[in-house]
Amino acid sequence: VDSNIQYDMDKLQDSFPGFRSKYRLIKRIGEGTFSTVYKAEDLAYDRYDNSWDFDRDSDKWTPPPLKRYSSGDHQPSRRRKPKYVAIKKIYVTSSPTRILNELELLHDLRDCENVCPLITAFRATDQVVAILPYFRHADFRDYFRKMTVPDIAIYLRSLFTALASVHRQHILHRDIKPTNFLYDPESRRGVLVDFGLAEREGSECKPCLCHDDYQTRKARLANHNPKATVGGYPKQDTRPSRRANRAGTRGFRAPEVLFKCTEQTTKIDIWSVGVILLTILSKRFPFFNSADDVEAMIEIATIFGREKMKEAGKLHGCAFETTIPTIGSGGFSFERIILWSTCRSDSEKTLPADEKLAVEFLKRCLDLDPRHRISAEEALEHEFLQVGML
Ligand code: ADP
Ligand code: MG
Repeated sequence: VDSNIQYDMDKLQDSFPGFRSKYRLIKRIGEGTFSTVYKAEDLAYDRYDNSWDFDRDSDKWTPPPLKRYSSGDHQPSRRRKPKYVAIKKIYVTSSPTRILNELELLHDLRDCENVCPLITAFRATDQVVAILPYFRHADFRDYFRKMTVPDIAIYLRSLFTALASVHRQHILHRDIKPTNFLYDPESRRGVLVDFGLAEREGSECKPCLCHDDYQTRKARLANHNPKATVGGYPKQDTRPSRRANRAGTRGFRAPEVLFKCTEQTTKIDIWSVGVILLTILSKRFPFFNSADDVEAMIEIATIFGREKMKEAGKLHGCAFETTIPTIGSGGFSFERIILWSTCRSDSEKTLPADEKLAVEFLKRCLDLDPRHRISAEEALEHEFLQVGML
C-alpha cells in the first residue's frame, strides 16, 4: 500500500475509538470529489452472527440472527468467512446539511431493490463515515465494449429497477453514471450508490415554463421575448437571471439541467441512463466530453440539430441560437451515429434487428422533452428490457 494511503488509513482508524476492534481496513477502493472509500473486513460480523448471545434479562441464550445485511451472502456459517464492508469517509469540507441529506436519503431508501443499503454511520468531531455492505464490481471501462445486446438489456434492467424504486419515493439521484452503478458482469447484479447529490423532487419551487400547458407557455414567452438578438444574445435582456440546480457530472447532464429548468424531475436520471446506453452502443467512453455547459449544449445540438434544440430551449424559456457550422438543422439519427462510431458505416447501411430495438429504447431515454421521456416504470415494461429474460 502506498505510504500516503497508509497514512490516511491510520489516521481514519485512530479518529474513531474502537475502530480497530470493529473493522480491519484493507485497501482504498475509490476516491471521488466528495469522499474516499475503503474496503474493510467487518470483524464484529463473525462474532455476532455465528455465535449465540447470552441475554442477562431473560437468562437465556439466543441464536444468531439470520440476516444482518440486505444484500450479499448472509447464510450463517460455522466456518470463519470474512464479511466485507465499504467505508465511505466523507470529506470534512462537505457541508453538514449535504452529509445529513445523503444519510437521510439512504435511510429512506433502505428497502429499495438494487440500491446499496446503509449499515450504519459514525461521526467523530467533523469526520463522518458511512458503512455500506461491500459490493464486488468490475470497472465499466473493462466490460462495456464486450457487452452483447442481452448483456446490455440485463444491465439496464438492474439499473432501472433501482431507479424505479428511488423515483417512486420522488427522489432524484442527480448523478447517474457508470462509477455510481456498481455492476458485476459475472453475477449480472448491480447496485446504485452515491446519493451525495440526490434530492427530493420539488426542492426548488420556482415554477418553470415547462410545467405550463402549451398556450400559457406561448403567452408567457411572448411577454418577455428578446426581440432583437446580436450573435445570439438579446440586445436588452430584461429577464431575471436564472438559477437552478446544475449538480451532476459533465456529459451526463440532461438538456433541462443545461437550460437551467427550475422544476427538474426524476426524468433527469433517465437522460443520464440514456447517455450510458449510447456509450455502450457506440463503444465510446466518454461519449460526451464537454468542458462546460455551453459545450455540452453544442454536443447535444450536433446530434439533435438546431430545430429540435430550439424547441427544447423554448420549453424552459430559453432561446437557443447558434452559427456553428457543424450544427445542422436536422441533426443525425442514433443509428447513423452508432454505425459511424463502431466503424460499420462502410460495410453496413443499417443495424441488426436487436441493436435496432436497443436504439428504439435509446430514443425514449434521450428525448429532449422531459415530459415525453420514458419513466423508469415504463422502461421496465419496454420490449427491449425483456431481452435476455427467461
Ligand atoms: P463519491 O461521492 O466520492 O463519488 P461513491 O459513493 O460514488 O463516492 O463511491 C466512490 C467509489 O467507491 C465508487 O465508484 C466505487 O468504486 C466504490 N464504492 C462505493 N461504495 C461501494 C460499495 N458498497 N462496495 C464496493 N465499492 C464501493
Ligand atoms: Mg460517486
